[in-house]
Amino acid sequence: MASSDQSYYVTTPIYYVNDAPHIGSAYTTTAGDVLTRWHRQRGESVWYLTGTDEHGEKLLRTARANGVSPQEWTDKLVREAWLPVLETIDAANDDFIRTTEKRHTERVQEFWQNLYDAGEVYKGSYEGLYCVACEEHKLPGDVEDGTGEYAGQLVCKIHHRPVETIREENYFFKLSQYTDKLLAYYEEHPGFVQPATARNEVVSFVKQGLQDLSISRTSFDWGIPIPWDPKHVLYVWIDALLNYVTAVGYGSDEEKFERTWPADVHLVGKDILRFHAVIWPAMLMAAGLPLPRKVFGHGWLLVGGEKMSKTKLTGIAPAQITDHFGSDAYRYYFMRAIPFGQDGSFSWEDLSARYTSELANDYGNLASRVAAMVNRYFDGVLPAAADHGPAEQAITGALAGAVKTADERIGEALDFQGGLNAIFDFIKLVNGYLTEQEPWKVAKDTSEAAQARLATILYTAAESLRAVAVLLNAVMPKSSAALWDSLGAEASLGELAEQPVQDAGRWGQLPAGSVVTKGAVLFPRLEERAEG
Ligand SMILES: [Zn+2]
Repeated sequence: MASSDQSYYVTTPIYYVNDAPHIGSAYTTTAGDVLTRWHRQRGESVWYLTGTDEHGEKLLRTARANGVSPQEWTDKLVREAWLPVLETIDAANDDFIRTTEKRHTERVQEFWQNLYDAGEVYKGSYEGLYCVACEEHKLPGDVEDGTGEYAGQLVCKIHHRPVETIREENYFFKLSQYTDKLLAYYEEHPGFVQPATARNEVVSFVKQGLQDLSISRTSFDWGIPIPWDPKHVLYVWIDALLNYVTAVGYGSDEEKFERTWPADVHLVGKDILRFHAVIWPAMLMAAGLPLPRKVFGHGWLLVGGEKMSKTKLTGIAPAQITDHFGSDAYRYYFMRAIPFGQDGSFSWEDLSARYTSELANDYGNLASRVAAMVNRYFDGVLPAAADHGPAEQAITGALAGAVKTADERIGEALDFQGGLNAIFDFIKLVNGYLTEQEPWKVAKDTSEAAQARLATILYTAAESLRAVAVLLNAVMPKSSAALWDSLGAEASLGELAEQPVQDAGRWGQLPAGSVVTKGAVLFPRLEERAEG
């Protein structure tokens, strides 16, 4: 964990601006957003960065095909597609970097000039295979024989499209010198690449020995010019990776850079793991900069068994889901249904089923029943609990356990599913408590003892919901705010975002006398949503 004056710094990959945002890219952004909201609510200083990768040959080709300059094309895509999607999924990022911004391009040139001056870069000629869709040179192991219309040609294993053979004069980074240094680093820092499957893949790749990396191109000019030889532009990947430092003041704001770098977590899809766990750390070693603390490679979202991507035309836009289910359910679904780090399948059926049973029934119903009973039996004023018997002790004990598990799972292990399981197990327990205690029956008895019992039951349920609102705020900020409002908690406890998650289990925070209102239904039934 970061020390008090250090920011907890989390990044998403910067997304390739030419792709339309789909649920695969939004998946990484959502995970980073949940992680950083959680840490903010621990009271830590946090910095969450996302952005767009805007250079490269593929982008130049599409801009031309659309009859505009590459800069106009990227401006349009950022404005019309990439910034709006952050709102769609309710992301609270602190910054958004674009690789065409001056704060990036100038620092990138400085970075590589320094490495060139230090003898880390040399001029050579490259001849080999290249996939335009990957914007990446390909090794023999990265390609396979094509079939069908591509029979007789070599195709990229990722894109199943023919690779090109190219020959050009390039500058090279002496990546091969870092083979042993990287292996030693992985050995000394077992948590650097996660999960274990990702780590094993990276280690066995590096063990084969690294080749020097071509870092420049001369066949097109949409990129950052190499300062000492401007006929060349920098290879798009080694320009893009530097966003993680240029965005936090590298070379321009020493104080901010010291406070923020190194990143605590780089979240990446497993397909770009080598760039982040091999090339990027080698670049940082060459520059004498500290390495990120963790590179976490998550799995792929599969739809009908295939990886989600625009090129395969299986892309689903996040708004297609949020328009129907809302952003909270969107965030919840991807964090709960798929173990982070493994591949997972998206299906509309699974999403609908979880929405109805877990969100609308288990959680939403509990919140509305409790608010309705406080209104019916106590005119909307939360009564004090009269005692704290074994049934209540079971609730407070379970809550303390759920808080501990959620904090450990979500905050440290990036196991969002494990954290949500603990919180929703607690919700189930509170539902079971109400079913057993039957407050609607107790209410019929007007004796003082029965009324005291009724007060205890409803206080226990409302105070449990107070804790649930705090614990779910990082994942579902909108419904948590609505619940907080319905419990009348703001007046006595202040803003929801200010409630420390690690303290959510301390019992008795919601004071008796709080004004509980019925409020809006947290998760309307799907048919009502569709009509509304
Ligand atoms: Zn490819």
